[in-house]
Amino acid sequence: MVKNTTSLTFYGGVNEIGGNKILLKDGDTKVFFDFGMSFTMKKQFYSPPFLSPKSENSLQELEILPKIKGIYKSDPNPPEVGAVFLSHGHLDHSAHLSFIKREIPVYCGETTQIILQALSEIRRADLEFDVADLDFRSFRTGKKITVDSLEIEPFHVDHSVPGAYGFIVHTSNGAVVYTGDFRDHGAKPEMTRDFVEKAKDAKPVAIVTEATNMTDASVSCEAEVEDKLNRIVTRTDGIVLAGFSNSDVDRLNSFYHIAKKNQRCLAVSLKQAYLLDALRKDKGLRIPCLDDDAMLIFRKSKKRFDMWESQLIEQYSPQNKIFDVFETSKQQCKVILAMAYYDFEELVSLQPTAGSSYILSSSEPFNEEMEIDHERLTNWLSHYGVPQYHVHVSGHMMPLQLKATLKEINAERTFPIHTEHAELFAKFMRDLKSQVTHVEKCREYLL
Ligand SMILES: [Zn+2]
Ligand SMILES: [Zn+2]
Repeated sequence: MVKNTTSLTFYGGVNEIGGNKILLKDGDTKVFFDFGMSFTMKKQFYSPPFLSPKSENSLQELEILPKIKGIYKSDPNPPEVGAVFLSHGHLDHSAHLSFIKREIPVYCGETTQIILQALSEIRRADLEFDVADLDFRSFRTGKKITVDSLEIEPFHVDHSVPGAYGFIVHTSNGAVVYTGDFRDHGAKPEMTRDFVEKAKDAKPVAIVTEATNMTDASVSCEAEVEDKLNRIVTRTDGIVLAGFSNSDVDRLNSFYHIAKKNQRCLAVSLKQAYLLDALRKDKGLRIPCLDDDAMLIFRKSKKRFDMWESQLIEQYSPQNKIFDVFETSKQQCKVILAMAYYDFEELVSLQPTAGSSYILSSSEPFNEEMEIDHERLTNWLSHYGVPQYHVHVSGHMMPLQLKATLKEINAERTFPIHTEHAELFAKFMRDLKSQVTHVEKCREYLL
């Protein structure tokens, strides 16, 4: 019997952070791991909302979306891919699912499905993020999924969004490990440990690893972040403004604990409130309840609310949970207000008092859900005399820990992705037994 050949092709996540699109072929079986949006590629051509892509065709023309037969909705050919597996719900791993044929099953963690569906309900219809009618099939750690000749085992990892997974894929030519995005200094390092143990036991022929943090690495952990936040909030006389990613539940938890400790309330946006409500379905998550005395919901000033916003406002108004900018302004020393940069127009009515502070606490220099415009953000804060703190802990593994992890897993070959520093990575790892491949986009690597 002729043995199947197994190969990896990287259509995204090459020399860039995010945009992961990894095709694994095993004989006639084809499976994608992640199908994310490339912020880097998109930024080369577009600056929303003034210049946004109008169609899938434009994205393919500019090669922001790779030209691959038999996977896109618009392609009349039958599907050529058996499944897409999502490592987690960050848009740089998931957003281009919008274009995938609806008959191709999309496997993801239960939490990821909740996040993606909630995000799609609260975002306006968007060419690049539309999960409607996708054939989602959810899993939890320990489940084994068979797609023709492949057996895929998802294992939970710790990352800056809940419901993140790495994968061990049993192919005709041995096990292939994909880390997704992971770290060992978050709130649940034991999850990453479980994954590493399983990956090691599989004696993999190849590992596809994220290598985000090769420069500017900082040593910290979620516990230290909470301590630093406390030191800032304790000394702040006015309002504390907090910028963090909507789906970063660990960070939301830290702000919630610190608010409570300092007799303040955490006022979250309607979007965060909606997501929190949705995530309560996931009993495995430890998240604050909106009914809690230390939680408020901030209602932006606008004339018309979407249906989901009106429903939330109606549901929580009787408990005096909904605060507008004027109510918030009167109680600045009692509030930590979660505020994204694109909500800064509210500052005009809020008028932060002397002694207020702003804490940017997004996981990465660019947030994995949106880009932050630092220069304009600083201009706004300067105008109101609000100093800016950056309390940071990365969602990604630090270099020395990554090296120790890869040494332990001991795959025959290593493919670094999700990094702008693949060459540095290869040199740093040169004393490992594993052969490091400097990945080229769209090239097929036989295993
Ligand atoms: Zn990522
Ligand atoms: Zn991520």
